[in-house]
Amino acid sequence: MNYIELHQNHKANSLFGRYITLKDIEPLLEKLPTEIIGQSVLGKPIYKYTIGTGKTRIFMWSQMHGNESTTTKALFDFFNVIHSDDEIGVKLLQEFMFCFLPMVNPDGAELYTRENANKVDLNRDSVDLSQPESQLLRKVFNEFKPDFCYNLHDQRTIFGAGDTGNVATVSFLAPSFNENRDINEVRSKAMNVIVAMNEELQKYIPNQVGRFDDGFNINCIGDMFTFLNVPTILFEAGHFEDDYNREISRKMIFIALISGLSHLYENDIVNNKNAVYLQISQNKVVFYDFIYKNVKINYDDKEKITNFAAQYKEELIDGKIQFNAYIAEIGELKGKLGHFQYDANQMLYNNEGDDIPKINQKADFYLGKDIKFVNGLKKQ
Ligand SMILES: [Zn+2]
Repeated sequence: MNYIELHQNHKANSLFGRYITLKDIEPLLEKLPTEIIGQSVLGKPIYKYTIGTGKTRIFMWSQMHGNESTTTKALFDFFNVIHSDDEIGVKLLQEFMFCFLPMVNPDGAELYTRENANKVDLNRDSVDLSQPESQLLRKVFNEFKPDFCYNLHDQRTIFGAGDTGNVATVSFLAPSFNENRDINEVRSKAMNVIVAMNEELQKYIPNQVGRFDDGFNINCIGDMFTFLNVPTILFEAGHFEDDYNREISRKMIFIALISGLSHLYENDIVNNKNAVYLQISQNKVVFYDFIYKNVKINYDDKEKITNFAAQYKEELIDGKIQFNAYIAEIGELKGKLGHFQYDANQMLYNNEGDDIPKINQKADFYLGKDIKFVNGLKKQ
């Protein structure tokens, strides 16, 4: 199948960038037979959308972390496929019954926070169920009785795919159900789907797929649902070179969704692919957004050559997300890589008379007399 063309044809073009709120998705939801299942802490509606006549029941939810919107964009692209008369769309609705919660945390989405309006991480609330959003998610899980759960997230730009030196543009996890991280039939089913998705993704983003740490935490929703005997897959949309709007990883999540589901209906006999799953590179924290090497600084009146790193903070200002770069680390930066790297060739750091970078300072500075950096980047 030509997934790139399929995505091109069905992309929900009104959704773009990182700041996706209810206001953005409601015009699209209006065209679908959705149901409002309850309200967030601040009284915003939480939508459920169920469709399909197939025997395998798939439960997908997105944006339980409010500032993780990439998979929501991919979901709406996916909705367009299942609403088209494209062969694959028709097939998917014959094979599956889907239940979607496209935005579990609409308050966090608007505030652009990971947590909900009570500052609770909904992905650590699966035992306490202290928040209305967590309770609704669990209610749908109990009622729908899924065969598979898809837990859709974004991950930060800091993750690399193992030791490949590449960023992890997409990561997956088949969560554990116990401290031992044992593999049972439930977990193995999730692993098999991940293997199929990874196989397809490698054609587009070779060595840029990661596998998330499987340390067990029953407070996390995926661990809980696996513990409750439903195969659950964690999706993490990540960074791709220069794509801070996450339009590439959106496309990759779309490809993963369709290729994984195709695998499910094409393979009645389940071959155990656990070993292949375990070969997927493990996610590693190796990246900064910016690294500057061989920079001369003045430390205690002594000149010294060092490196430093800066990292974007995503800040909601006047209804827009700004990527503001701040100094994050100074020193050897052993094993660290930068999405943007600059060799200063021993030029002197200077920031309005200050000749040493300071943690949490805005990344606006000079290297040498003439080369100015604004918000992390060299000014042309
Ligand atoms: Zn998340």
